Amino acid sequence: MYDLTRKIQEWITESGIENGFVTVTSQHTTTALSINENEERLIEDIKAFLERLIPADDRYLHNDIHLRDCPPDEPENAHSHLAALLLGSSEVVPLAEGKLVLGQWQSIMLYELDGPRTRKVAVQVYGE
Ligand code: ZN
Repeated sequence: MYDLTRKIQEWITESGIENGFVTVTSQHTTTALSINENEERLIEDIKAFLERLIPADDRYLHNDIHLRDCPPDEPENAHSHLAALLLGSSEVVPLAEGKLVLGQWQSIMLYELDGPRTRKVAVQVYGE
């Protein structure tokens, strides 16, 4: 999990936009993006929760690589897609006086569910 809050705040400051909102969107089907607390033990709880709920070694149709039209080295990652489905892929955060409007313990977290790989996140700032 990666805390993107500081980097996104830096981009907002560079943009010069003071009031409006920001959209943050993961551009992948096996990552997730959502607001939560960046706390070491909670992160371990989230990992354990997802592993209990969506075991990687369960039977998934998406993992029948030989039956799909895809490269033979395609990973068996159905559990990653399902976790991404649960956690979501985007957030909209208000922007006031040049700052993200987040609660004290809220961070914009990117969840790597099938990596590590190079990932892209789209950030768009709207306002004036
Ligand atoms: Zn897949």
